[in-house]
Amino acid sequence: MDRYCVFGNPIGHSKSPLIHRLFAAQTGEPLSYDALLAPLDDFTGFARAFFAEGLGANVTVPFKEEAFRLADELTARAARAGAVNTLKKLDDGRLLGDNTDGAGLVRDLTVNAGLALAGKRILLLGAGGAVRGVLAPLLAEQPAELVIANRTVAKAEELARAFADLGPLLASGFDWIDAPVDLIVNGTSASLAGELPPIAPSLIRPGHTVCYDIMYAKEPTAFNRWAAEHGAARTLDGLGMLVEQAAEAFFVWRGVRPDSAPVLAELRRLLAQG
Ligand code: NDP
Repeated sequence: MDRYCVFGNPIGHSKSPLIHRLFAAQTGEPLSYDALLAPLDDFTGFARAFFAEGLGANVTVPFKEEAFRLADELTARAARAGAVNTLKKLDDGRLLGDNTDGAGLVRDLTVNAGLALAGKRILLLGAGGAVRGVLAPLLAEQPAELVIANRTVAKAEELARAFADLGPLLASGFDWIDAPVDLIVNGTSASLAGELPPIAPSLIRPGHTVCYDIMYAKEPTAFNRWAAEHGAARTLDGLGMLVEQAAEAFFVWRGVRPDSAPVLAELRRLLAQG
């Protein structure tokens, strides 16, 4: 069996082992996949020991930047993101660092939800690691405009500068904007605390604007409840992004693209059960 894993700390609640075992069963790929609790003070040593035998790993909080530094080679999207969520051992033993989070979000929006992003006005809330990771893939869809709004405006401005060469990108505070947009993506961690970024309801054109929270939970998040109350055409959560970033990582490792739809349906069923 070829060995794969996810490194994190904590890692107990990771859904990655379930997702990748379902992908392996579906595709017949002979692999094992485990959740490994990496020590906070020696991620590099722990990861190197795994790769003595292991072929690939996902990386989650708080190690994505350390994995970026560990990689011997980076894909263009990982270099842009400044973070690595997928490591692959190359034939010569060196480690390739990739970042599949943005591809996962875009695939969930465009394939699963059937949205066309070209020419659309998109508002992205937050300027942390997740937003940095999704900016390049979102801009590659050629929106008319992408506004990054963040509580700490300087961080939004820094991202807007760093990705300015890729498309029409603007930085903003939450309360500087009120004109309706086509898509709002909540990339903050506010929903983790049941909180809501203080944005104007007029950003939603009732029956038109789609709202996407990259967080997911058994019950709709605070952001998605707010969006539904103000007439959003659709509210979507980040479970599809989670499954699609995993499918992309599986493809990077194995060269086989799993069918994500039945796996997403199974995770949705388990999430509803709590
Ligand atoms: P970071 O800690 O790097 O960034 C957090 C961001 O949220 C910052 O922009 C911060 O603003 C903002 N924020 C936090 N609390 C509030 C609040 N109460 N009101 C307004 N803004 C707030 O986190 P990540 O970027 O790594 O993760 C963000 C979220 O994305 C998490 O919930 C994570 O679970 C989720 N995620 C989901 C994935 C998926 O596959 N579905 C993949 C990756 C992440 P400020 O800069 O001002 O502090």
